Amino acid sequence: MRKMLKDSSANFKETTIAAVSTGLTPAGIAVIRLSGPEALSVADRVFSGRKKLLSVRTHTVHYGKIVDPESDQEIDEVLATVMKGPHSYTGEDVVEFSCHGGLFTARKILSLLFSSGAVPAEPGEFTKRAFLNGRMDLSQAEAVMDIIGAENEFALRAGVSGLRGDISQRIRGIREEILNETAFIEAALDDPEHYELTGYAERLGEALQPVKETLTELLRVADYGSILAEGIRTVIAGRPNAGKSSLFNLLSGHEKAIVTEIPGTTRDVLETHVSFGPLSLILMDTAGLRETGDRVERIGVQRAKDAIEAADLVLYVLDGTEGVTEEDRKALSECAGKPVIVLRNKTDLMENASAEDGEILFSARTGFGMKALEERINALFDAKKLTFNDEVVITNERQKALLRKALRSLELVDQGIAAALSEEFLASDLTDAYAALSEILGEAVSDDVIDRVFERFCMGK
Ligand code: GDP
Repeated sequence: MRKMLKDSSANFKETTIAAVSTGLTPAGIAVIRLSGPEALSVADRVFSGRKKLLSVRTHTVHYGKIVDPESDQEIDEVLATVMKGPHSYTGEDVVEFSCHGGLFTARKILSLLFSSGAVPAEPGEFTKRAFLNGRMDLSQAEAVMDIIGAENEFALRAGVSGLRGDISQRIRGIREEILNETAFIEAALDDPEHYELTGYAERLGEALQPVKETLTELLRVADYGSILAEGIRTVIAGRPNAGKSSLFNLLSGHEKAIVTEIPGTTRDVLETHVSFGPLSLILMDTAGLRETGDRVERIGVQRAKDAIEAADLVLYVLDGTEGVTEEDRKALSECAGKPVIVLRNKTDLMENASAEDGEILFSARTGFGMKALEERINALFDAKKLTFNDEVVITNERQKALLRKALRSLELVDQGIAAALSEEFLASDLTDAYAALSEILGEAVSDDVIDRVFERFCMGK
């Protein structure tokens, strides 16, 4: 904490920061954000409206012009939104100028603010100040990032829930129960006449049981939540000519589809992000290798196997006109342990297409079966069940690691009880669990951790 106090928190109460908070492309409007003790007076140096912003009420919007104080040149017409601390995003006085969206305009206004006393904000600094000023805890600050980075409905909902404080609340609840136990042990050790420790270890073991279950459940949902938030890694597999590429193209051209198309690490693995209902798939096409000779084919097969190994879901394409061959059976058995959806493809060529148990009748040519595929994926990943009403979904790796750490410490308590260790030792493991949970909220964390969280933020946030 010390370095941070010196580097940023010591200054952060004195400096006024500014940045363009909207994207770096020309747009209808751009927003320039100012935060700090001098935000209003710095803004007034460049803003010319009916009233000085210093004199207006908080949470009001004002029309005016940006004028270069040196040259008196008019730069743009803007709306200035004034939010005085502590009821602002950062907890400090904040002014946001909405100007006409040209990049040049926004940068010009920003440079005027710099020459009028503001300093450039670092990436994530507004949110960092919100955290340092106690406007949000660290898990909420991380949720802000998740909302910005959300690429699907699920990730967005997880982010909003985190920002609302669902994670914080749950973690505080668990922490409280641990604290009660540590407090009791400490009281009993201090004052053995009034507190009885006989039989306590057993009671402690019982009391911790539901706490461990809650942590385990949070971790289970967390693992699953990451898959959903980041995208379900989906591999299309099947024999040559079954229709894998056709399926890939169909899915990437899906009406609700594509975000980006990025060539993978090698030319032959294509990765496409596809929104599929409320979920997104990271669709990997490993096809396209086999045509070019044996050696390449072998590499291709190996690569397909690796991809399947790393996948969350396999879409296995069968050529319906040929039925299930020995090769298919072998390939399918290699997918054992993975969720697999078998598509009986090319049904448009078949008179009486029939599917075996669990298969989906499909045509990559006509799109027949898409609805069934979508429903199957949703059912498989239980997208609807995660309503966020009573479920807390942690998708952040830092938070997950700390949950695991807390659970491990509680398991050590259990072992300690079994080994009849003295209560002091039990209290020490309980304290570790407590500390890990506190770190999720950003309490008593080192400045390195804070820096690491915020350096992933974008400019102006
Ligand atoms: P891959 O080798 O598994 O990637 O298979 P392709 O997607 O390249 O398809 C092989 C051939 O089957 C191509 O000529 C496709 O046009 C054709 N094909 C794929 N899916 C269908 C389908 O559903 N119906 C019909 N009629 N042809 C298909």
